[in-house]
Amino acid sequence: MDTYLRVSEAQRVVLEAVATMGREQVKLDQSLGRVLAEEVRANRDQPPYDISAMDGYALRSADLGRIPAILEIIEDIKAGDLPNKTVASGQCARIMTGAPMPQGADTVIRVEDTEAVADNCVQINQAVKAGNDIRRLGENMRNGDVVLAPGTEITPGVIGVLATVKCAQVQVYRRPRVAILSTGNELEGLDEPVDPNKIPNSNSYALMGQVQALGIEPVLLGIARDDPAELAHYLKRGLEYDVLLVSGGTSVGVHDYVRPTIEALGAQMLFWRVAMKPGHPVAFGKVGEKCIFGLPGNPVSSMVCFEQFVAPALRRLMGHARTHRRTLSARMTHHVKHQPGRTEFIRVSLAKTQDGYTATSTGPQGSGMLLSMAKADGLAILPAECNNLTEGSMVAVQLLDGAFFQNDSGFRE
Ligand code: AMP
Ligand code: MG
Repeated sequence: MDTYLRVSEAQRVVLEAVATMGREQVKLDQSLGRVLAEEVRANRDQPPYDISAMDGYALRSADLGRIPAILEIIEDIKAGDLPNKTVASGQCARIMTGAPMPQGADTVIRVEDTEAVADNCVQINQAVKAGNDIRRLGENMRNGDVVLAPGTEITPGVIGVLATVKCAQVQVYRRPRVAILSTGNELEGLDEPVDPNKIPNSNSYALMGQVQALGIEPVLLGIARDDPAELAHYLKRGLEYDVLLVSGGTSVGVHDYVRPTIEALGAQMLFWRVAMKPGHPVAFGKVGEKCIFGLPGNPVSSMVCFEQFVAPALRRLMGHARTHRRTLSARMTHHVKHQPGRTEFIRVSLAKTQDGYTATSTGPQGSGMLLSMAKADGLAILPAECNNLTEGSMVAVQLLDGAFFQNDSGFRE
């Protein structure tokens, strides 16, 4: 008898069995979503000198003892210029955002607080202290400072920092190569004519989308029939990849050949069953350094198991410290039946209210009901030991792809 692991135990087994891949160098424009494998340091002071934060006038704060004050404009400093003159008492320089501060000046007054009085004179209507609207030399970063640590996910902001320190090539962790295999005599390929007696192969494609959403382009190996020799042939091909996802055939039916065939290939299987609903016939093992996941054939089970076990493994392999989907807390809008014993994942849509989120089932929850998965913003998680959930109870909801944007801004001004 196989033991049923809890979801959290099975996740721990998976994460302990996978390690971050090796490194590779990629161009900055190909680095979004990857994970830095090196420490990155600043290559100079930023800004390189004190610069103006505003379009306005650089002047001496001591000249603003009496307001309004009329000052002589001695120079025009644009971004990219170097100042030539020293600002003396009674003088100022017209300065643009990003331009270097001239000698003698200790503050900036924005143009909105001044009035033109003549070509070479300006009236200052506002007193400010020394240091106003100046960005100080090195306030962003100092030459030699560590600005990014290994393990940092490369987001658009990180790309900005990398460009600032002139990192045109970046060391990142490799992405695993992933293969997807569907099994079952009843399956009809996407490019095959419609046969009313067959079941369309949706799992290969839903899994493909899930892998792509993590930034990896998988290889689809097609459909293997329920035949030990054919299955062995496909599994061997699949094990040329870093990670092989096998959909279907992991259950205990007489034609479920995945288990004996995987075992005959020398796989060290770490589990075959997890106490979850949907998705309990889910398996994980290793053949050398390669990982193999046996996912249930039922379309929703396959996707839910991917989110719980495959996504964390792929994220770990890619070097991410954040391996799990983000969860948020939501109030169930209705009663949910649940028998203690298995962790249950309910497909829900989320709505934002004045006091947090609400979660509502997206429809029938059978493990083959893919439409309710397609509509889901997330998976509400009912812990194994809990009983029926009453309306208004709080649940953790794991966010799915598609839930990261909303229809409105979400704030009031
Ligand atoms: P199995 O895990 O092979 O016993 O399959 C369980 C259920 O999932 C059966 O109803 C299968 O027809 C269905 N199924 C298996 N593989 C796929 C697939 N690739 N796409 C859609 N449904 C599938
Ligand atoms: Mg099958």
